Amino acid sequence: MCWNTPTFSAVAGMEVERAISTRDWVWWRGLLLIMLKIRCTSNSKGKAKVAWKNVCRPKDQGGLGLKSLREWNETLIVKHIWRIIAQNDTLWGKWVNVVKLKDISFWDVEPKYDDSWGWKHLLNIKDKVKIHINVQSCNGINSYLWVDNAGNKVQFSSQRVWKDFRTNNNKVAWSHVIWFKQFDPKMAFILWLAVLKRLNTQDRIQQWMPNVVLSCVLCNKERDSIDHLFFSCEYSLKVWERLKSCLIFRGLPNLLSQAVQVLSQYPHTNNIWCILNRLVLAACVYYIWQERNHRVFKDVKRSANVLSDMIFNYVQMKMLTFKVKPSSAVIKAAKMWKLQLLGSRFVYM
Ligand SMILES: [Zn+2]
Repeated sequence: MCWNTPTFSAVAGMEVERAISTRDWVWWRGLLLIMLKIRCTSNSKGKAKVAWKNVCRPKDQGGLGLKSLREWNETLIVKHIWRIIAQNDTLWGKWVNVVKLKDISFWDVEPKYDDSWGWKHLLNIKDKVKIHINVQSCNGINSYLWVDNAGNKVQFSSQRVWKDFRTNNNKVAWSHVIWFKQFDPKMAFILWLAVLKRLNTQDRIQQWMPNVVLSCVLCNKERDSIDHLFFSCEYSLKVWERLKSCLIFRGLPNLLSQAVQVLSQYPHTNNIWCILNRLVLAACVYYIWQERNHRVFKDVKRSANVLSDMIFNYVQMKMLTFKVKPSSAVIKAAKMWKLQLLGSRFVYM
């Protein structure tokens, strides 16, 4: 199946739109187009940034939380089955029961060779659906509930079915380090790729082009990689160390994987320093990756001090959007980030 067919664009686009907030929709739509392009053009093994099935995982399972078209289609088919068995007062439900089934139980019908494509799909998954149906009779009237994967009897909804039918993977400890209320979508996306080691760093590129000699454009000392860029490289380390000096928790390691691991164990609260730790990490990864690409593709260079100032200014601006309750932690944050507190807001000095 080609992923740029009209069917995918229309259905997946609507579902993605529903899944994410309007605030970030413009950016996420751009991201979706990039992901589709990656999906359609990456035929060579190893070149795709992240496998589509992993992109479609929920965020707490390491994905981007997009809905898999296959799983969502199955959910919509279940909705049709529900209309036949539990909502046969709808026009379509009545028509199927009277004209198509002719009083035969839907569960007893087997697909026939000349059945339509859609009807065969309904019949093909009926056994998978049947175990989720709970029927209770009272005075000759049947009422139906959905039995979720945990055995709870709940009201039927497409969201509930999708949660029960989608592929579930183990939760990842680091999802809260990337995705939190104040996250910046473009920075979170780059950090997500970095954590998965799926940025196109030179060590990956060298696998496709083994004869090309590559060296880090930030320090010119060795081939770049996720570990080198974040933050073994002397340029990156300078940026990282400078920004870490603006955090009260200075013990964050100088290696991205270890820093993420440490922050994963940190409480994921709305405490100002919990937010700043994660914002600073995402901003450092984003700006260093941007600087690396500017040098490669635009031949534009910024010093480590200039880049650090840009990250500092970015975090400062982000803090201006916060609504805070004055506390010693908030007052200290204002002081360290050269802001002052005015009521429940940070303002420039
Ligand atoms: Zn370097």
